[in-house]
Amino acid sequence: MRRLLLVHTGGTLGMSGRRPHALKPGAFFRTVRQRVPELTKLAQLEFELFSNVDSCEMQPELWTRLATLLHERLDDFDGAVITHGTDTLSDTASALSFMLKNLDKPVVLTGAQRPLGEVRSDARMNLIDAVTAALHGPKEVTVCFDSHLFRGNRVRKVSIAEYDAFDSPNHPVLGVLGVEARFQPGLARKGRRTLWPNVVPDVFLLRIFPGLDPALVLPMLPRLKGLVVEAYGAGNFPVSKALGRSLEPVFSEAQRLKIPVVVVSQAHRNGVDLSLYESGSLARSYGAISGGDLTMSAAVVKLMHGLAHVAPRGLREYLERSVAGERS
Ligand code: ASP
Repeated sequence: MRRLLLVHTGGTLGMSGRRPHALKPGAFFRTVRQRVPELTKLAQLEFELFSNVDSCEMQPELWTRLATLLHERLDDFDGAVITHGTDTLSDTASALSFMLKNLDKPVVLTGAQRPLGEVRSDARMNLIDAVTAALHGPKEVTVCFDSHLFRGNRVRKVSIAEYDAFDSPNHPVLGVLGVEARFQPGLARKGRRTLWPNVVPDVFLLRIFPGLDPALVLPMLPRLKGLVVEAYGAGNFPVSKALGRSLEPVFSEAQRLKIPVVVVSQAHRNGVDLSLYESGSLARSYGAISGGDLTMSAAVVKLMHGLAHVAPRGLREYLERSVAGERS
């Protein structure tokens, strides 16, 4: 029988509690054995308790530990399933996709909107589907949720209360788990699996909004190693001097301080084009890098990861190309 590693990190899927009390991490593996005993008919599972936290507690250091654990243990398994809270699942999936280069086994993240122990929980099906995807799906980091398999570094959490919590608006799904489970081939490998575990977390995400005062942003720049700007539409931000809120000084100062700036869009479909409007062109003239159709999660994580593993002169090229299928 094929072997899978099931790593639990936490999230609603493994929580317990009844309203009006808050949900809290529960005894996950015992609940799995009680509620989904048939999982063992699909594969021989080895349980690994990595953590048991709400995913708001996930941090870059934990991505590194998780990627290291997977890299060290995957040779003994046919793939891995990681149970994770939905709130930061896209960040962890992105991090694993960059840290595990040339991944040669499926690594499938899943979670749930309702705890596994509840009658109407989506956790049971998500777990069965994730195990199926880890056995038969593409050899890359994916997210399995609500009968669909997505590329891990392409997902966004789109719903808090519906079961279809994830979408990958700029990339087709990698699998549909209906009556039949059908999968796409996934990423091509270019060598042996290697671990790139480090990150430089001194990055800031600046979301543009009407009224943003550049004077609030400028003092923090000297403390940053990288900046992601979540701009309007095709990569726009105010540059008019009329009301004193032009963000041009943020871009010029970042360039002076040699801080890489990546521009992504607040829109979920399509990507940034810094040649289309005046502000984008201005950002480009100050050395800003187009994030194309990177999600906000993938852009932040890729920048943190690139800062740790790529020499400064190679960083632009690294960020502009797809290294794990994260941008078109
Ligand atoms: N707050 C939870 C978490 O991210 C939400 C979930 O799992 O759906 O851990």
